[in-house]
Amino acid sequence: MSASPYPLPSSDAVSVRMRANRRRDTRPETAVRSALHGRGLRYRVDLPIQLPGRRPVRPDIVFTHARVCIFVDGCFWHCCPIHGVEPARNADYWGPKLARNVARDRAVDAALADDGWTVLRIWEHDDPGSAAAVIADLVSEMAHPATGTRSHRTPSDAAG
Ligand SMILES: [Zn+2]
Repeated sequence: MSASPYPLPSSDAVSVRMRANRRRDTRPETAVRSALHGRGLRYRVDLPIQLPGRRPVRPDIVFTHARVCIFVDGCFWHCCPIHGVEPARNADYWGPKLARNVARDRAVDAALADDGWTVLRIWEHDDPGSAAAVIADLVSEMAHPATGTRSHRTPSDAAG
């Protein structure tokens, strides 16, 4: 396959517009997914994971065999340390709401870990290619543990 069936953009202006459209249509998790796909990794998207005593959790990317789930967290909604500034307007509304989001994230992380899942969260500002490399390493490690033991649970003494 060498010849593209599509005509090339006829001018720089068209080319810029095409790039802009593509960027607008690409959500952060989509970019990470396609980087993973490019590495030959196969995964489930928005797979509901049933956890005892909770509503199902739907991570953005799930590797069922390796029991690894990935969340791509939005900088604003999940309070990224770099971009997660608290809005000055309606602070009484946003402050508690965003704090609840973060608390829910940590509770979900703990519930998944208790159920034997490895959880990795990446920020929407992370470079998709770098994130995919980290994910690929983690999935490989979890799918084929070097030690021979499948257990990678951590002591759940994080309550507090
Ligand atoms: Zn950020």
